[in-house]
Amino acid sequence: MRKKIVAGNWKMNLLLDEAEKLNASIDETLSKGNFRCDVYHFIPFIYLKEAIDNSKHVQIGAQNGHPEKNGAYTGEISIHQLAHMGTQAILIGHSERRQLFNETNDFLKAKVNTAIAEQLTVFFCCGESLEQRESEDYEQIVINQLKSALFHLPEEDFRKVIIAYEPIWAIGTGKTASPEQANAMHISIRAAIADAYGNSVAETTSILYGGSCKPSNAQELLTQSDIDGGLIGGASLKPEDFMSIISTYQ
Ligand code: PEP
Repeated sequence: MRKKIVAGNWKMNLLLDEAEKLNASIDETLSKGNFRCDVYHFIPFIYLKEAIDNSKHVQIGAQNGHPEKNGAYTGEISIHQLAHMGTQAILIGHSERRQLFNETNDFLKAKVNTAIAEQLTVFFCCGESLEQRESEDYEQIVINQLKSALFHLPEEDFRKVIIAYEPIWAIGTGKTASPEQANAMHISIRAAIADAYGNSVAETTSILYGGSCKPSNAQELLTQSDIDGGLIGGASLKPEDFMSIISTYQ
């Protein structure tokens, strides 16, 4: 059985009191129900400590982190610092980091290595742009992202990684991949994992879908054969929407 996961990516949103309220609200609702999935919040650095100290049911992750342990990197926060503070997970390879902050495959690989060494759960994001989707080899483009920054890991470490397939054309645009389109890509990703690590690893790797997932389409997307959960942006900012998506796995 693959682990089902629903993760919220708050991005650069919410003020302190809003962040505290949202995290507490989800944590409390989870304490009352019986949900068959793990729930994560990827939140801004400044809210991590409070959330880590107060969450019992939501696992708390960072949206970024620097691979070097410490040093002259003004404005950066190291993965080592995050781990030391109790952060449980990290997003690596999000398309906004790749596109807006020019993060390269080599840099992502370095982050993956440090995060694994620091025992954080890596959520590795991959996905193609609209232009790439319109080309014939978009599947290979996504698989190359995995090959370049992830598939160097030994099997024992790769087993700890969660993959999020996020077509860039569907992130924050309101355009969602159809359940069939998303599932087809998940099947291809799983096949690539099987090539790299064998079937048993592929069959136990959780692959999440992300991109305009919301209450109205979550049920259909998140119950496809090869979709093991969702990475949720906009809809994770409203407790009722996020809980509605989580309830897919109730
Ligand atoms: C994301 O940024 O990871 C994401 C999936 O965003 P949205 O749900 O808003 O498309």
